[in-house]
Amino acid sequence: MTQFASVSLASSAINTTPSAIPGSPNDNYSRLLAPITVGKKRFRNRAIMGSMHTGLEDDPANAPKLAAYFAERAQGGAAAVVTGGYSPNQLGVLSPYAQPFNNHEMVQAHKQVTAAVHEHGSLAFLQLLHAGRYAFHMESVSASATQAPISPFPSRALSDEEVAQTVQDFANAAKLAAQAGYDGVQIMGSEGYLINQFLSSRTNQRDDRWGQQRSLFALEVARAVRKAVPADFLVDFRMSMLELVEEGQTQTEILELARGLEEAGVDMLSTGIGWHEAQVPTVITSVPRAAFSWATARVKKHVNIPVISSNRINTPEVAEQVLAGTWDDTGVETDFVSMARPWLADPEFINRVQAGHANQINHCIACNQSCLDHVFENKRTTCLVNPRAGYETQLTLQPINGGHVGAGEPAGKAYPEKAAPKAAVIGGGVAGLFGAEALAKRGYSVEVFEAADTVGGQFRLAMQIPGKEEFHYSLQSVLARLDAQNVKITASTPMTAHEAFAAGFDEVVIATGVRPRIPEIPGIEQAMAGEFDVDVITYAELLSGAKQAGDKVAIAGAGGIGFDVAEYLVEAPASADITAEPTPATINEWESAWGVSRRADLPGNLERPHPPRAQREITMLQRKPSPQGLGLNRTTGWVHRISVAAAGVKQFSGVAYMKIDNDGLHLNVPVNDAAKTSKAIRKAQKAGDKAKVAELEDDLKNNRTDTVLDVDTIVLCTGQESVIEADFESLTEDQRSRVHVIGGADVAAELDAARAIRQAVELAAELKR
Ligand code: NAP
Ligand code: SF4
Repeated sequence: MTQFASVSLASSAINTTPSAIPGSPNDNYSRLLAPITVGKKRFRNRAIMGSMHTGLEDDPANAPKLAAYFAERAQGGAAAVVTGGYSPNQLGVLSPYAQPFNNHEMVQAHKQVTAAVHEHGSLAFLQLLHAGRYAFHMESVSASATQAPISPFPSRALSDEEVAQTVQDFANAAKLAAQAGYDGVQIMGSEGYLINQFLSSRTNQRDDRWGQQRSLFALEVARAVRKAVPADFLVDFRMSMLELVEEGQTQTEILELARGLEEAGVDMLSTGIGWHEAQVPTVITSVPRAAFSWATARVKKHVNIPVISSNRINTPEVAEQVLAGTWDDTGVETDFVSMARPWLADPEFINRVQAGHANQINHCIACNQSCLDHVFENKRTTCLVNPRAGYETQLTLQPINGGHVGAGEPAGKAYPEKAAPKAAVIGGGVAGLFGAEALAKRGYSVEVFEAADTVGGQFRLAMQIPGKEEFHYSLQSVLARLDAQNVKITASTPMTAHEAFAAGFDEVVIATGVRPRIPEIPGIEQAMAGEFDVDVITYAELLSGAKQAGDKVAIAGAGGIGFDVAEYLVEAPASADITAEPTPATINEWESAWGVSRRADLPGNLERPHPPRAQREITMLQRKPSPQGLGLNRTTGWVHRISVAAAGVKQFSGVAYMKIDNDGLHLNVPVNDAAKTSKAIRKAQKAGDKAKVAELEDDLKNNRTDTVLDVDTIVLCTGQESVIEADFESLTEDQRSRVHVIGGADVAAELDAARAIRQAVELAAELKR
C-alpha cells in the first residue's frame, strides 16, 4: 500500500481559522452551553437538532424507531429536536405514501416520540412542511401553475378558498402537535417549499390578494397557528434568509417579512438557505463553514425575538463563534445554532463538549452520501460515519459477556484487561478504524495494524481534494475516540491473519482496503517505469504527493475519483508543491466563485459567478459514451459537474485507449461528441424511434477516428482492486471462522466509505463471544 506512505498524520493539519480547530485546549463553550428561556420554555443550551427527513416519518408504525432516534440525541444533550417535515394536509405531502399530520393516529404515535425526548430533558418541535410544487406526486399544487426544475410533476395553482383552507390546515396541525406533547412547531417557510413559493415572484404570479402581497400567506399561517395553540407552545418560523435563485426575494423583502412574522406572534426565527432547485451549493463540504451566518445576523438586527443560525455549522468551535458574532465578523450575537447532520453523525455532540472531549465528536463531513442522498432516493436516512443513525433499535453494540460499556468509555472498564477477548484489525483505513471503535465499544481489546506509516486510507487521499479538507477532522476524531478506548494502533507493521492468531488474538478483521487498478494499455508499463516522456501515475500517487502532474494532463476514468482529481488539478498550480497542506476556500472566495452577493436589493442575492479556471490543460476521458459524472452522488454530483465544466476542463466520452508512447496518449474516439449522441439516443428511445436509435448507435460505433492526446501526464482513475494478502491456506478451520474480511478488501467495485464503515460496524455488532 505504497500510496499512503509519504503522508504522515502529524503533517496533515489543515489551515483554517485557527480557533476553528476542534478540541483545542483553550476551547470555551460558555455561549453554546448557556441555558435560555423562550416564552415559558427553557432550553438547556443553544444547540438545536435541526429538521432532517429520515424516511421514518411517513408511516406512524415507525414511531418507536423515530422515538429511539430522537431519544439518543436528547440523551446526548440536544436542547431541542425538530422532526422531519409533516404536511398539514394531503396535498402537501412530499411523497404519495406519506401521511399528513392531521389525524388522531398520528397524534397517538407521536406521543411516544415526545415522551422519549422529554425523558432526556430536551424539547420537541414538529416541523410543518407543505411541499407545494416539490411534492413528488401528481396532485402537486403551488401559488401559481408552474413546474419545479427538480420535479417531474407540474403543479396547479391553489384557488383562493384552497389557500385559506391551507392556512387553517396549518393551524389544525399545530393544535394536534400540542396534543401529541410537542413543545412547539417549526413552520417550514424556506428551501422553496409552498410558503416560500408564495413569497417569491419566481413562483407567485397571482393577481389576487395572495399575489398582490406575496407575504400574506406566510403571515396568515403564522397568525392562525399562534391563535390555535396554547400560550406556552412555541412557534418557530423557518424563513428563507437567502434565496439563491433567480427572481428570489431580496434581502429588503426578507427583513420586512421577519418583522411581520414577529408581529404575527412567532416566537423564534430559524434560518433556511437557498431553494432546493438553487444552482449554488448550500450544505456540502465545499461550502465554507457557517458561510451564511451573515444573513442570519442581518435578520437578528431587525427583530426582537431569538434567531437560530444554521448551515455548515458542524463543530462546537464554529457554533460558539457564530453565537458570539465573531464568525465572519458579523458582530451580531445570535441565540441558537441549528445543526441537523452533525447530530446524525454524533448523537452525543453536546455531552462530549460538556465532558471536555470535543475532539472526539464524530465529525460530519457534509458528504450527504447516506443522509440527503438517501432522502432523494426514498431510502431511510443514516450517516456515513455513523451507520447506527436511523437504525438505533436494529444496529446495537451490546456489551459482550453482559459487561457494561458506554460510548467513549475505555474497553478495559468492562473487562479486566486479561479477560477481554482480543481482536486484531489489519488495515487502518476507515473501515478498520470505525470497526475497531465499534469492537472496543462492545468490550473487545482491540489493536489495529497498518502496513503503511500512517492510517486513514482513502480518507487521507480524499482530504487533499479542494472542498473535502474536513475528512481530516473525521480521521482525527476517530483516532481520539480510539485513544480514549485504549485501542492501540501500530503503523508500519504488515500483518497476516496467521501472525495475528500466533500473537494470541481471538478475532481477526481484515480491512486492508484497495489499490488503484492499472488498466491494460500498450506502453503503460514502460511509461510507469519512466521510459517515455509521458508519465503515467495513479490518483493515489498524485494525491499523496508521491508524484506530480505536469502542465498537460489526461485523467483516465471519470468516476468519483476522476472528478476529484480534476478539481484537485484545477486548484493546484503546475509548479507548486502539491504535498503542501490544503487550505479551504474562504467565505469571500467561495461567494465570488458561486456568484453569491450580500447586496440588499438583488433578487435572490445572485450575481455573476467567477469560478476558478484551470491553470493547466486537463482532459477527462471515459470509455462509456454517456455524459461524464452521471454516477456521482445525487445531491452533490451536480456541484462537481458544474465546477469541472466551469474550470475549462475538457471531457471526452466513448474513447478507446490504444497505446502510450513518447507522443502522448493514443485514442480512438467517436467523430461526433459521444455524450451528445448518447443523450440523443436516450431521447429517441423514449420517443420509441427505433430507426433513429439504430442510426445514432451506428454513428457511435463506426464513425470513429484515431487521435493522439499531447499530454505530459496521465493520471489513472480507473477504479480499484482489493488488497488482500491473507494466507488463508495455513489457517485451521476454526481460525478461518474467526477471520472477517470487510470494506474494499472484501469488494473493491464501487467501493464507498459508507458501505465500508457500515460493514465494519455491522460485523462488530454481530460478533459473538
Ligand atoms: P468509479 O466511479 O467506478 O470510476 C472508475 C472509472 O474508471 C470509470 O470512469 C470507468 O469508466 C473507468 N474504468 C474502469 N475500469 C477501467 C479499465 N479497466 N480501463 C479503463 N478505464 C476503466 O470508481 P472511482 O472513481 O474509482 O471511485 C470509487 C468509489 O468512490 C465509487 O463508488 C465512487 O462513487 C466513490 N467516490 C465518489 C465521489 C463523488 O461522488 N464525488 C468521489 C470519490 C469517490 P469507463 O469504463 O467508462 O472508462
Ligand atoms: Fe454528515 Fe455525511 Fe453523515 Fe450526512 S452522511 S450526516 S453529510 S457525515
